[in-house]
Amino acid sequence: MNKETIEITNKYLMKTYNRLPLSFERGEGAYLFDEDGNKYLDFVAGIAVNSIGYHNKNFIKVVSEQLGKICHSSNLYHIKQQSLLAKKLVQWSGLDKAFFCNSGAEANEAALKLARKYGYSKNKNNNCSKIIAMKNSFHGRTLGALSLTGQEKYQKAFKPLVSSMEYAQFNNLESVEELIDSSTCAVIIECIQGEGGVIPATKEFYEGVRKLCNKYNALMIVDEVQTGIARCGKYFCFQNFESKPDIICLAKALGGGIPIGAIVSSEKASACFEPGDHASTFGGNYIATCAALAVLSEIENNNLDKNAGVMGKYLTDELNKLKPLIKEVRGIGLMIGVQMDNPPSDIIKKCEEKGLLLIGAGTNTIRFVPPLIIDKTHIDEAVNIFKEALVEYSIKQQEK
Ligand SMILES: *Cc1c(COP(=O)(O)O)cnc(C)c1O
Repeated sequence: MNKETIEITNKYLMKTYNRLPLSFERGEGAYLFDEDGNKYLDFVAGIAVNSIGYHNKNFIKVVSEQLGKICHSSNLYHIKQQSLLAKKLVQWSGLDKAFFCNSGAEANEAALKLARKYGYSKNKNNNCSKIIAMKNSFHGRTLGALSLTGQEKYQKAFKPLVSSMEYAQFNNLESVEELIDSSTCAVIIECIQGEGGVIPATKEFYEGVRKLCNKYNALMIVDEVQTGIARCGKYFCFQNFESKPDIICLAKALGGGIPIGAIVSSEKASACFEPGDHASTFGGNYIATCAALAVLSEIENNNLDKNAGVMGKYLTDELNKLKPLIKEVRGIGLMIGVQMDNPPSDIIKKCEEKGLLLIGAGTNTIRFVPPLIIDKTHIDEAVNIFKEALVEYSIKQQEK
């Protein structure tokens, strides 16, 4: 199966991934087709990236027309699509200003630097540089983003990391309160810890962090790289809570598969960046920003935010019917985690053989992050396959 691709991969690519023996040729809606023409229902969506589904006609039209004009000019000049995208994200979020980069890790780097500059701006020294991140978080692989990622397994081979990072317990407000003080420039959280196992923040925790940040004049950063862009039933997951953060970090679904990252922040924070403080050659170029504009208009025109909410509820209800084959269902909108008792790789593999793509997260969690265009028939198909795989797996376990 796709043997030639696999051979070339193994010979020429650094082994930074344990890849499944699959290689895709094209997609259509919520389905992918591999090099042998086999069809898969895709509940991974390129890891929460392909939210408008595959082969979206408007997206293809907008991006290919842009390719015929200009791809890149650098940020020495104004880029109309970048400005329009900033305007749209500001309208969506109720925040004030945007900055564009190329990935989720880079978005977190930008947030980190903006937070440090915010701290610096207070007294024109580096005494307000502490950043509080959460244990079991995930913020990306560059050294700054890795320093925010409170998981020893990702950090241990790469120390020393960026200094003045401290880690509190997610959903434990007291642990944040213990660490926060006047030397703190920011606290960063995810609304739902994604890679960490699809663990939603409680209302008390989210609002409590907001209050603590206000009290200590620190910025509240929410990493919405996975939760943002309508996945959780609202344009941004933070909109499921009451108050706004100071900075949100975006990437994954923003460009519909074209690499782009962004931060959007309040004026209070964004005013700290001056020319020369931060930059990216590719950041916000014509292709990336016109792709993102196309994604956002598809979401608006088809109410994909609402669809994510409604379908998320339906998927949650259907998955809950599979108890006791599964332990727990967690999540918001179409970011759903199914808690298992054991490592789920065998079940994920069985699903793949039956034509359903799923992905693991955290400890013993299976993640469902389908395109936001799905309807009930896709969910029924997915849950049926998942159930079959669970039943076969449990029979096999009993035989052991
Ligand atoms: C995926 C992810 C990142 C990293 O994004 P990259 O584009 O891989 O750098 C950061 N934060 C969260 C919450 C993510 O899910």
